Amino acid sequence: MLELHFTCPLHDMDFRSAQWSLDPDLKTITTPSGGKELHGNVHVPCPLCHQTHTYAPNELACPLQDPNTAQKLSSQSPDS
Ligand SMILES: [Zn+2]
Repeated sequence: MLELHFTCPLHDMDFRSAQWSLDPDLKTITTPSGGKELHGNVHVPCPLCHQTHTYAPNELACPLQDPNTAQKLSSQSPDS
């Protein structure tokens, strides 16, 4: 299993885990802007607080997602 990077919301600390699991109904949809998004949740047992945390895929640095879709926040116009 691929190791992913998570943040524990209780301890506000990062951890890595390969023990995550996906919702069985996880699916990829195409957005109106032509990007791809994952719909469904990721569940991971937390080694810090020993609870299971649930994350939306867009909260993760998800390798399944096109990295270009995460970089639309800071588009600068060269004319301004
Ligand atoms: Zn935790």
